[in-house]
Amino acid sequence: MRCAVVVPPIEDFYYTPHRGSFLGAHIVARILKSLGYLVDLYIFPNTKKPRIIQIPDELRYLKDFIIDGEVGPFSYFTTYKRFGPDYKKAAELILLNSPDLVFISCFAFCYTKSTIRVAEEITKKDKNIKIIVGGAGVSVFPEYFENTGLFYSVLTKEAEIAIPEFFGRDVRFDLIPSVVNTKNTKRVSYFSTYLTRGCPKNCGFCSVALVHGRKLREVDSNLLMDILPDEDNSKIFLFNFEDDNVLLKKESFFEVLQKIKSRYSKVLFSCENGIDYRELDIDTLQTMINLGFRQFNLSIVNVNKRILLEQKRTFLRDKFIELVDYLKEQDIETIVYFIAGFRGESWKDSIKNLIFLAQLGERVRVGLSVFYPVPGILGFEEKGFFLDKSPYLLCSSAAYPWNNSLTTQDFITLFRLARVINFLKRPIIENESYYVVKKIIREKRLYTFVKNIPYPVEVKNYNRDMVKELFDNLKITLKK
Ligand code: SF4
Repeated sequence: MRCAVVVPPIEDFYYTPHRGSFLGAHIVARILKSLGYLVDLYIFPNTKKPRIIQIPDELRYLKDFIIDGEVGPFSYFTTYKRFGPDYKKAAELILLNSPDLVFISCFAFCYTKSTIRVAEEITKKDKNIKIIVGGAGVSVFPEYFENTGLFYSVLTKEAEIAIPEFFGRDVRFDLIPSVVNTKNTKRVSYFSTYLTRGCPKNCGFCSVALVHGRKLREVDSNLLMDILPDEDNSKIFLFNFEDDNVLLKKESFFEVLQKIKSRYSKVLFSCENGIDYRELDIDTLQTMINLGFRQFNLSIVNVNKRILLEQKRTFLRDKFIELVDYLKEQDIETIVYFIAGFRGESWKDSIKNLIFLAQLGERVRVGLSVFYPVPGILGFEEKGFFLDKSPYLLCSSAAYPWNNSLTTQDFITLFRLARVINFLKRPIIENESYYVVKKIIREKRLYTFVKNIPYPVEVKNYNRDMVKELFDNLKITLKK
């Protein structure tokens, strides 16, 4: 029997291919192979250069904020893209090898539309083919996929359980390690992997437990080492761990880092999904730096105590500052994320987060995460609520006011302000952008660059009060 395993094309304003490892689809492919089936794997988002496409009707409201031809360090998105072939072409490619079964992976609910569009095109060409859908996006709201009538089966559990169950095979898989070579250049090979699944913590905004449960489980690191490639001393090997909270298994994590380090002469590590800084201390940081971490991605979620309490999350301010100061001393770059748009949050609350991060100095860059719900998380437990909402609105880039707290205008103003703050954190070069940033701070208005216009242009449709609030409360000393 022949199976196709498919990751549909992605439609969004942005997507970073070297982050697109799609470990879940690789695991499905591995399981199918070990059950004795022939497998063709189609990771469509990584196969083609992106194509600019029309913004979907559901996201038309964003056009009010997009400035055609906008460029430069203070810009917002200008184009909407499809990463991968069009859906018709994708279906043709999938059917080329005449698969008996097609497994489609929907790794996030916000990408449901692409999953459905691929399934529709396949069905148009072969209405008898059996299409099976699974993945994190499916697990949080399986009924949405069942209701389409497109799928022969809708799988919700982890692949290690769901796939053998689907075939009625009494085979037990432990967590299967997977490592994916996401990008290769002449000098660098990028890999993504993970060591754990699940998280026992209970943050209200997080969907990890809905998909993987609260029990923290580990892959067999010996199996992981077996599938890693051999040393190639002409290259730097860069490993990104995609775990949600890998520091909960600190000892095994360090053991694996050591094993990898002893295989490759030049190796660097990262955890780009973010590290729970509450599990860090100075010794742990130093060990990670010694082993090959050169950048840290940390999330504070929010500095507002009331919001954190509702989200069942803590903010250990002193500890956080101690860690960040240490990272600065070691000259290690840190990106600190906060989430904006929680229920009951005002734009003034969001600006307080930005001020806090701006004051941490030049080694700390700001990462803004716009709140978006996943069906089933705190405050969005009633899944029927999502039936008449387009999944496009659940992308972070949709900047949709899910909690009726921040508006789309507030989110996009915040996005631009975060870019201005990050610009100020760079070494100063007295160029045109520096002149514009001085103008922004002096006038407390937002300006940007537009192609073929020789002077800075004031941004359209932004919240001026937010800009004023930020620069009224932030002490910035600029060269005259
Ligand atoms: S946000 Fe992080 S710490 Fe909180 S539940 Fe999710 S994975 Fe766990």
